[in-house]
Amino acid sequence: MIEVEGVKVDTRHWIGGQRVSSNRTFTDVSPIDESSLGEIAAGGADEVDLAVAAAREAFPGWASMSAAERGDILRRVADGIDARREDLARVETRDNGSLLRSHRRGVMSRVAMNFRFFADYAEKLAHPDLEIRGHRERITYDPAGVTAIITPWNAPLMLATWRIGPALAAGNTVVLKPPEWAPLTASLLADIAHEAGLPAGVLNVVQGTGAEAGAPLSRHPGINRLSFTGSVPTAGIIAAAAAPNIVPLSFELGGKSPLLVFADCDLDLAVDLAVEQFDNAGQVCLGAFRMLVQDSIAAEFQARVIERARALVQGDPRDERTDVSALVSRAHFERVSGFVSRAVEDGARVALGGGPNSELGGLYYSPTILVDAKPGSEILTEEVFGPVLTVQTFADEDEGVRMANETRFGLAATLVTGSPDRAERVSARLNAGTVWVNCFFVRDLGAPFGGNGKSGIGREGGTYSFDFYCDVKNTVFSPNGWKAQRMDG
Ligand code: NAD
Repeated sequence: MIEVEGVKVDTRHWIGGQRVSSNRTFTDVSPIDESSLGEIAAGGADEVDLAVAAAREAFPGWASMSAAERGDILRRVADGIDARREDLARVETRDNGSLLRSHRRGVMSRVAMNFRFFADYAEKLAHPDLEIRGHRERITYDPAGVTAIITPWNAPLMLATWRIGPALAAGNTVVLKPPEWAPLTASLLADIAHEAGLPAGVLNVVQGTGAEAGAPLSRHPGINRLSFTGSVPTAGIIAAAAAPNIVPLSFELGGKSPLLVFADCDLDLAVDLAVEQFDNAGQVCLGAFRMLVQDSIAAEFQARVIERARALVQGDPRDERTDVSALVSRAHFERVSGFVSRAVEDGARVALGGGPNSELGGLYYSPTILVDAKPGSEILTEEVFGPVLTVQTFADEDEGVRMANETRFGLAATLVTGSPDRAERVSARLNAGTVWVNCFFVRDLGAPFGGNGKSGIGREGGTYSFDFYCDVKNTVFSPNGWKAQRMDG
């Protein structure tokens, strides 16, 4: 047990309704000041075996409950999250350096909503019957079994519950492997779920590193679904590990999304949307870091974005005034620094920032804007996952769309224009799972969410989540007993 921001957090795994230790640990470091928060149980293949066995044992009981019975428990979990929202917010901020004010204003409510929304959705989940030559076809959603969920550190509790919510609502049981860079709120979630009456073994949490705990989970023959959120290289390793077991995968991966700004736009809005990309120090998968601006307004747009970005307050994320915090770890800090140095060596010019915040030191990297990067260069094509924006210009709509689509990713695209016709034309041509027109980040949980290309496999949200977390069954009823005519197709 450790105490973080006045909140007690159990550092052991949560398996089969019990706390379980490991003989090895890893150190959890806070990005705020690089101090150690404590030693966390480092799970491996043995703990994963235990957790999958517990989830398999709990599955028949949980699956046989009605959606309404499960929903009652999941809504109590949501209530428990609401009751401990401030604790969760403070612990997550200390653990991964994300802004406390963001958690207070919305992130932690969304965590609770991830349970409520899918609990409600599962109760109403229904496919209309189909009919062919007098035969009735009934489509039903059966729970698939044990779901393995592996998550990243940038929004650990929100991203974990976005999968745990629908997986449990569908009647599956879960083994969660939280990120080693931000493991703590998953442990608090286990406490909350237990107190809400979630039966033992329905939700299990195995702490540990990707190589030691994530790898045995992804290759485990006892799992029936694998939902992974993280980087493309890890996704490749996980896909290969899961392949022999023919386990369906849902992958939500990285991006290199464009912010496409047309000359006919509301420039104030465009500048707001650009500056918003520094949120969470740029550690946001959906971030529109590639700013593509039409020639005629490029100079004014750039000057205004730089002015606004310069005024952002960087510092301790626990301070409500802070706009930009630290990067998650020393290794990630070096990675982001490397991208910017190589971009500059490759001809890009620094219009703002371009290095560590020398006043703050530590893991605080200054908001950075790069211009004149070479087309096709690394900084324009690889995901940096830091507070680094690039500016490029385009002449007309065709060139803007072509540049926006010049990526192997396809997670999101944001488009700023004053023309409804252009909004229709351009949004239809953009290669992205989500396109925002004159807005950013807003989304109904029933809408499909996921990426094209290297940004992922599949969609989650609403029915799309249940399509993934369920074995969808078609039962065909004959009107005439066993002598019914054979179908031709
Ligand atoms: P990562 O791929 O390094 O790690 C993600 C998770 O995978 C962690 O829990 C890690 O322990 C685990 N892992 C690592 N190696 C593993 C292995 N060999 N086998 C099994 N599990 C393993 O990613 P990260 O650095 O934690 O997160 C940043 C990435 O996540 C970025 O690319 C970002 O774009 C992406 N992301 C995507 C979304 C989305 O919804 N599309 C959301 C947030 C983050």
